Amino acid sequence: MMRKQTRREMATEAIHAGEAHDISGAHIAPIYQTSTFTFPDMAAVEARAAGESDSYMYSRGGNPGRTALAAKLAALEGGGTEGISAEIFASGMAAITAALMGTAKTGDHIITQQVLYGSADHLISDVLTGFGVSNSRVAGLEPEVLRNELKQHPETTAVYLETPANPTMSVIDIAATAEIAHRAGAKVIVDNTFATPVLQRPLGMGADVVVHSTTKFINGHGTVIGGAVVSSDEVLMADEIASLIRFTGGVPSPFDCWLTNVGLKTLPLRMRQHCANGMDVAGFLEEHPAVAATAYPGLKSHPQHELAGRQMDGFGALIAFDLGSYEAAARFLERLELCSLAVSLGNVDTLIEHPASMTHAVVPPEERAASGITDGLIRISVGLEDAADIISDLDQALGT
Ligand SMILES: *Cc1c(COP(=O)(O)O)cnc(C)c1O
Repeated sequence: MMRKQTRREMATEAIHAGEAHDISGAHIAPIYQTSTFTFPDMAAVEARAAGESDSYMYSRGGNPGRTALAAKLAALEGGGTEGISAEIFASGMAAITAALMGTAKTGDHIITQQVLYGSADHLISDVLTGFGVSNSRVAGLEPEVLRNELKQHPETTAVYLETPANPTMSVIDIAATAEIAHRAGAKVIVDNTFATPVLQRPLGMGADVVVHSTTKFINGHGTVIGGAVVSSDEVLMADEIASLIRFTGGVPSPFDCWLTNVGLKTLPLRMRQHCANGMDVAGFLEEHPAVAATAYPGLKSHPQHELAGRQMDGFGALIAFDLGSYEAAARFLERLELCSLAVSLGNVDTLIEHPASMTHAVVPPEERAASGITDGLIRISVGLEDAADIISDLDQALGT
């Protein structure tokens, strides 16, 4: 007897979730490159107004390609759980903005970690403060310190975290943070860009909201800027996030959704190779005499290696390493031949950047120092080229 399949594995969901064949029978859904949608008659208009139909009306409010991508991402982050939904945004920053504006209003407080993605850092410390939303930092969201900070700030409505953190690769305990934050009545937002749902599913560990820069591994091919908010909190999604995307208008184009959806289909397969290559490259860097320090959650030397092993299904493709000085870093970066000197990450191509002068240049120097972003620090996003070729390029660039 055939059994009804209720839960499918990630590799299957990545390919099939959210996919619908339109009236043409096209196997791959077309790009609905349209601003508006027609109604056959006033009865259809009235049904929509009464909430009896969810037909499309205008592409800022919704577009079939965006719906499909949202369903796929929700399926992957949810790991088969019901009641999880997603909204797709024009960028990761638009998604983060909506998640924070949806959970923290004027007079509210946000607690976050010391090291953050540079633009998220700037948004919290310089933009949201202008709207009367204050913030404070707890270096690695250590439980005792976080508990104390929540007591100092009973007006805290959101704890925002990034793990592994950009660019230092420190790892934060999602389940422990969620438990402490919830006791104080605050929601937990996790930026899951570095790990992706393939390696880490924060909603299953108690987080309320996951945000993504889909620009990175989710698209995977470096063709689109995009973002997403995923949550199991139906009230937050319906009352805040859906409203924020519609009325602040940070919506993605139909073409961008389509490209991201195609990229997402291979995410589970890509992440497996990203992890294998990441491990090989991290092992090489750690052994190299010119490298002063290597931070990769998969290395035994990583301070939260054990936590990463518990919380993640793989260690990913991001590695931070220190060459000791700006001069040594610059010399190395200029000698690369195969790997590209470029920001962004999660592409099939290996990308290498200098956080202090690139992604984290917006962070003031004293804050950078407090975050461990030294002038000799380099971040590599290990791609899907053959690991031996990546290592050989790094080796020649490190050489004397
Ligand atoms: C890139 C990135 C963002 C911002 O996303 P955009 O798509 O560039 O707006 C946020 N968080 C992390 C961890 C990122 O790597």
